[in-house]
Amino acid sequence: MRASIKNLLATACRKLGHVESAQFEAELLMAHVLRSTRSFLYANPELELLHKHSGKYKKLVKQRARGQPIAYLTGECEFWSLSLLVNPAVLIPRSETELLVEAALDKIPNTANWRIADLGTGSGAIALALATERKSCEIHATDISEEAIATARENANRHDLRQVHFHHGSWDKPLTGKFHLVVSNPPYVDADDSHLDQGDLRFEPRAALTPGKDGLVAIRTISQFAKTMLLDGGWLMVEHGWEQGPATREVMADTGLKNIATLRDLQGHERVTIAECK
Ligand code: GLN
Repeated sequence: MRASIKNLLATACRKLGHVESAQFEAELLMAHVLRSTRSFLYANPELELLHKHSGKYKKLVKQRARGQPIAYLTGECEFWSLSLLVNPAVLIPRSETELLVEAALDKIPNTANWRIADLGTGSGAIALALATERKSCEIHATDISEEAIATARENANRHDLRQVHFHHGSWDKPLTGKFHLVVSNPPYVDADDSHLDQGDLRFEPRAALTPGKDGLVAIRTISQFAKTMLLDGGWLMVEHGWEQGPATREVMADTGLKNIATLRDLQGHERVTIAECK
């Protein structure tokens, strides 16, 4: 017997009961399987699914019930109003990271042709968001993961953002020349932080979340590199953990960077620190 959209959704909601916003997620997965919108589901509750579709749907619901992040199951995530492809090789872009994009846009004049570097780009989220807003900038994004670079390139093609160049390699290694701006959302969670064993983080690439025992290691490395990468008057901007504001400011000051300031995210947490190379 074929099952209707309505019945499948009801069963899925029961299975996802422990997931916050179970109804929404059940609909999202259904819309994904049917390549439709959620409003299509409301308009056609009695529609019966083909077996291949209901089979696929049940499998996705099972995976979600086991904790797989919704973005990996649908293969997509919204960031800065761009729909980005994501997979387990890349961190799922967080809304907090939009603060980093805002901080950068605040400094980049509208028609500037700045050279910008995004270190550890993952899905390409930051680089691509900046590219959509500042068409004349030349953006170079790196990542140590070849799969991440492939994903980021696909995302650039998807949105036809040709001024972003992707390079496979560690931090600044694949890059030459000087930059007006260096941005990064590096791994910053301490390796023994229990959050790594909770929620979506369990399924995300460890190397994108934690640099090791000391969560500040990558931020230190990037600050050092930035000093040599940046033009005089250029800016470094990094995302960090909500308790890492003071330590990040100290790292940047020790590196000799100036005009250091920390911005707070929507929760009021210190999240992005910026500094000028003078
Ligand atoms: N903000 C992410 C979290 O959810 C961590 C991202 C990162 O390490 N860059 O903890």
